[in-house]
Amino acid sequence: MAISVGAPRQLLRRLREVMAERESAQARLDKVVVLIASNMVAEVCSLYLRRRDASLELFATEGLNREAVHNTHLKRGEGLVGLIAEQAEAMQFPDAQSHPAFSYHPETGEDIYHSFLGVPILRGGHAIGVLTVQNRTHRHYSDEEVEALQTTAMVLAEMIASGGLGVSDEAAADVRRELSVQFKGLALSDGVALGHVVLHEPRIVITKLIAEDVELERRRLAQAIDELTGMIDGMLERGDLARTGEHREVLEAFRMFAHDRGWRRRLEEALATGLTAEASVERVRNDTRARMLRQTDHYSRERLHDIDDLSNRLLRLLAGGVGTAAAGNLPQDAIVIARTMGPAELLDYDRHRLRGLVLEEGGSASHVAIVARALGIAALSQVKGVLEVAEAGDAAIVDAESGELHIRPTQEVVAAYSDKVRFRAKRQAQYAALRNVPTVTLDGVKISLQINAGLLFDLPHLDQSGADGIGLFRTELQFMISSTFPRLEQQTRIYKAILDAAGERPVVFRSLDVGGDKVLPYFRVSKEENPALGWRAIRMALDRPALFRTQIRALLRAAQGRELRIMLPMIADVAELVAARSLIDKEVLILKRHGRPEPKRLLVGAMIEVPSLLWQLDRVLPLADFASVGSNDLMQFLFAADRGNMRVADRFDRLNPAALKALACIVEAAERHQVPLTLCGEMAGRPLEAMAVIGLGFRSISMAPASLGPVKAMILSLDAGDLRTRLDEWLQTKATSLRQELKQFAAEKGVQI
Ligand code: PEP
Ligand code: MG
Repeated sequence: MAISVGAPRQLLRRLREVMAERESAQARLDKVVVLIASNMVAEVCSLYLRRRDASLELFATEGLNREAVHNTHLKRGEGLVGLIAEQAEAMQFPDAQSHPAFSYHPETGEDIYHSFLGVPILRGGHAIGVLTVQNRTHRHYSDEEVEALQTTAMVLAEMIASGGLGVSDEAAADVRRELSVQFKGLALSDGVALGHVVLHEPRIVITKLIAEDVELERRRLAQAIDELTGMIDGMLERGDLARTGEHREVLEAFRMFAHDRGWRRRLEEALATGLTAEASVERVRNDTRARMLRQTDHYSRERLHDIDDLSNRLLRLLAGGVGTAAAGNLPQDAIVIARTMGPAELLDYDRHRLRGLVLEEGGSASHVAIVARALGIAALSQVKGVLEVAEAGDAAIVDAESGELHIRPTQEVVAAYSDKVRFRAKRQAQYAALRNVPTVTLDGVKISLQINAGLLFDLPHLDQSGADGIGLFRTELQFMISSTFPRLEQQTRIYKAILDAAGERPVVFRSLDVGGDKVLPYFRVSKEENPALGWRAIRMALDRPALFRTQIRALLRAAQGRELRIMLPMIADVAELVAARSLIDKEVLILKRHGRPEPKRLLVGAMIEVPSLLWQLDRVLPLADFASVGSNDLMQFLFAADRGNMRVADRFDRLNPAALKALACIVEAAERHQVPLTLCGEMAGRPLEAMAVIGLGFRSISMAPASLGPVKAMILSLDAGDLRTRLDEWLQTKATSLRQELKQFAAEKGVQI
């Protein structure tokens, strides 16, 4: 009774022929079930497809009554067929009718058949139908037979999904999941974008399912797996993760899967049934997905992603090593969706076609977020599950204002957003009109507004925004997007270009702040338990003076005859400032000795971002030419809340009196010592927070370029003295966040926030 070894391949070949025939979909389905029945030596073969209401409809049968076709419907979960669909797994019963789940539909005439084998037709791990065979005798279907039926089901699934079977629109539409879906995420970069989905890691459409030469397919697959494991091992060894934003744990999981014997065995088995290498990968992915979807624990669900990712990568290698979508044809209005991404990968995209970015993972302080902000595209992160739903070319809307993402939005949503985009454009035009208006509060207080930058394409923002200068140039970004350590000449060239673009406007170059989460692909550091508190920034500079001195030398050379401002990050102790300054002085001496032109003026400043400095201000400030508060780090350390960990990053409000008192004491000390003071953390870019900061006495702030307009509008409508009085009072009396009070103040006084 069992099928012969060559039978599955034969069956697949015949299936392909039937599919290619120019007949109606129903006629072809009818032939398909006849073929399967005869190949499997079964008296019955039936095909059920899921309808939108989750019921299963008999679409074709060989052996059951023909009148039952399209007339027999099984409710969700009803009968053995319903059970198989719900569980998304193959099941067999030697005596089907004695099973408690058996549901008798007299119109089918199936009461004479005892043994029953059914397999789900899977798409993306979900059952979109069920394929069954039945025999009169009580019999057991062998593993090979179950395998053969599963392979057939997979081929059918692909054909249904691609519309190749022309089955009813309703079922096919369901398969293609055309419904509009909405997600909520975390805003990384402000903006609203309407466009079309581009999957950063393109999915390969499998066009050839059935192998012509099984040996060849086996070799292709073996080679692709070797390449894949080599790639993963290489990435892990080189620690080359920052460029691509890969997570070490994810790669470790890939490695685990890629070396997993079970996975390889299942691929082998799929190949043996006559599928192409690509179809085998898809088949095993679907089965594994279905199995994992049945698990409810978080760990298995997370691994689902890994198996998807891994399979996609393998498929791309089989297709000849297709790169990311950045290398392909982009629509004019690309909304790039990825699981994760590094800053360099985002920069690979054609900026003129990029409208939005959606990530499943990554915090707002991540570097890809900083690059997205610099590019001025709307970006969201923490959009879990989007890759399961979005298809390349789908219409999409990213709303970073509300944190919403719409995939395949309805007409009404598109219309509402077109209005919103028009409204925002109007507002942008209003901000642009403020460009040349002096930044002075209602009570005559002049505020200096600067921008944060870090990449060469930030430079045009200086003119466009009308900023007074660059308050923070994060030099490490250039290092992060480079694949090797930038040499002295290269660094000099970059710094010179920045100073040229800035002209008379000041630029504050922050010395390298790497370490922590800012990883350089080519710079190996040992793993640390608490990287944010680890070997980073000035600590690294003082321990490896050669790196630091090269950078200082490049800055000095670039600045000849002009003013040079160097800012030192993460100063925690006066001695660090003294030591760094003496290294800088040595470089100045070398410059003089070589007779090279010096900068017109050299200013060395300290970042105030480590809380220990709050009690050393009277000693640090006299040694600094200027100071700048890094509120991102200062707050993370003050509240002991990791800025990159979404669970805690926003747990403590930056408008908490504790935080504001810390800022107030920095302002007082800077005034006492007459040291110019700026605040350059993300706080400065949010109008309400910026309002509080100005109320505390800051007269210079630096922010992402896109924030400049809204912050300026706020300042022009603010009475700083009035706010100061209110703040002094609240800081005496209130114990928790002043957000409400500040909002109310703005509302009452008409401050634009
Ligand atoms: C900060 O810490 O606030 C800051 C401006 O520096 P970075 O965000 O680069 O750490
Ligand atoms: Mg910092």
